Amino acid sequence: MSDRYQAEYIWIDGTEPTAKLRSKTKILAAGKEPDIWGFDGSSTNQAPGDNSDVVLNPVFVCPDPIRKGDNKLVLCETLLTDMTPHPTNTRVACAAMAEKHAESDTWFGIEQEYTLFKGSRPLGFPEDGFPGPQGPYYCGVGADDVYGRPLIEAHMTACLYAGIALAGINAEVMPGQWEFQIGAITTPAVADHLWIARWLLYRLGEEFGISATLDPKPAPGDWNGAGAHTNFSTRAMRESYEPCVAAAEALGRRADLHIANYGAGIEGRLTGEHETAKYDTYFYGVSDRGASVRIPWQVEKDGKGYIEDRRPNANCDPYVVTKLIVETIHEA
Ligand code: ADP
Ligand code: MN
Ligand code: MN
Ligand code: MN
Repeated sequence: MSDRYQAEYIWIDGTEPTAKLRSKTKILAAGKEPDIWGFDGSSTNQAPGDNSDVVLNPVFVCPDPIRKGDNKLVLCETLLTDMTPHPTNTRVACAAMAEKHAESDTWFGIEQEYTLFKGSRPLGFPEDGFPGPQGPYYCGVGADDVYGRPLIEAHMTACLYAGIALAGINAEVMPGQWEFQIGAITTPAVADHLWIARWLLYRLGEEFGISATLDPKPAPGDWNGAGAHTNFSTRAMRESYEPCVAAAEALGRRADLHIANYGAGIEGRLTGEHETAKYDTYFYGVSDRGASVRIPWQVEKDGKGYIEDRRPNANCDPYVVTKLIVETIHEA
């Protein structure tokens, strides 16, 4: 056993309109908890060059499935040097909103869709032209329909090793498109786990020469976009049906605000086709995959459970999305 270990400090940067993940390594003495650290914010769109220091404050630590041993992944929030939240820190508001309504015990399950790319083409798309139309790829098997499985398996194993609350994975409707689900757990934990799972996907992609993108519409035309369906339930929703309907109604009262905060480029994905409702219309329905919000058939049958907000983009910030949902279902 070494007297030191590697802590990979991971944070969300200031890239606009969609933030990216950054990380760097700190060597720590064995047994020492990861402490605050810092970085050059002028290189991440988070500070001017003449006042460049941004503070990294650890919020979630887990075993590192890549380096293994005693090594750790350290998800951080960003602070200014006076220890107040950095303007790009969306976690603080999420945690505060969750705390404010903690008595309702809201759980989230987020379905992260994403698309693998080899160079400038989605994995499985030929150099010239296009693959056959959508149909055989969703939950498919076989080298003619499924692309990137070794990376997906490595990612799933890594998430389990790290203790991420992974619920499952599946191949998606467009070739090269996949999904993993996180939850159901509370927020901000669900978002912390999702950001780490995203980082692991990108990091493991390096090993395979494959990049993953959260682009909400990675292939224009008759190809499905990529979303982050956000399933949620309060304790009351898990006990009876009326609160499930009430939550769907509440979301409709602030539909525009939610759309504006569900990820850049959402209008290009929520076209009203490809299993979406149009971005400027709001409706919910039982079993309806063309609705903004779906009440699963089992939930109607059981008279309790959860509902699915189908609108968030793959490239959404889960701190922003879960904060807004908690706020709207309790306060709108
Ligand atoms: P879909 O049928 O839309 O593809 P998935 O199986 O991919 O659904 O994802 C459903 C998600 O909903 C999972 O992450 C699951 O953990 C989550 N979920 C299940 N029950 C609840 C609940 N009561 N509250 C919140 N999330 C839940
Ligand atoms: Mn799903
Ligand atoms: Mn899906
Ligand atoms: Mn879904």
